[in-house]
Amino acid sequence: MPPEAPGPRCASHPAADAVHTCQRCGRFACAACARTESGVVLCLACLARPEARLTPSPRAKRALAMGLVGLHGVVVLLPIAAWLARAELRAIEAGDAPPAGKPWAQGALAASIAGALLWLVLAVVLLGE
Ligand SMILES: [Zn+2]
Ligand SMILES: [Zn+2]
Repeated sequence: MPPEAPGPRCASHPAADAVHTCQRCGRFACAACARTESGVVLCLACLARPEARLTPSPRAKRALAMGLVGLHGVVVLLPIAAWLARAELRAIEAGDAPPAGKPWAQGALAASIAGALLWLVLAVVLLGE
């Protein structure tokens, strides 16, 4: 007959109660082992791995998605995409966002500029007819 079922334990400290779950590897972590990196809870083992920082932040993904949707006609999203992308690039340079988001943010910026030019040219052509 087992006594009471033990709660989840930290993967590194079997004596410590787990209070977090690593959002990358799913291991249990105690308060001393978990760190929040760019809004994501990671264990110490994952923090030590460089690829843990290879995931772009949600803002970088949102900026690129808005830039691409804006490119396809939802012009009002283009300035928002450009603004998000610039904020993300600043955060990456300050070390507050994962560097992996850089190509996403640069792509979002390029898409918003290309979209703005495209729709400007189209408007001039259509109005000039
Ligand atoms: Zn982990
Ligand atoms: Zn621990």
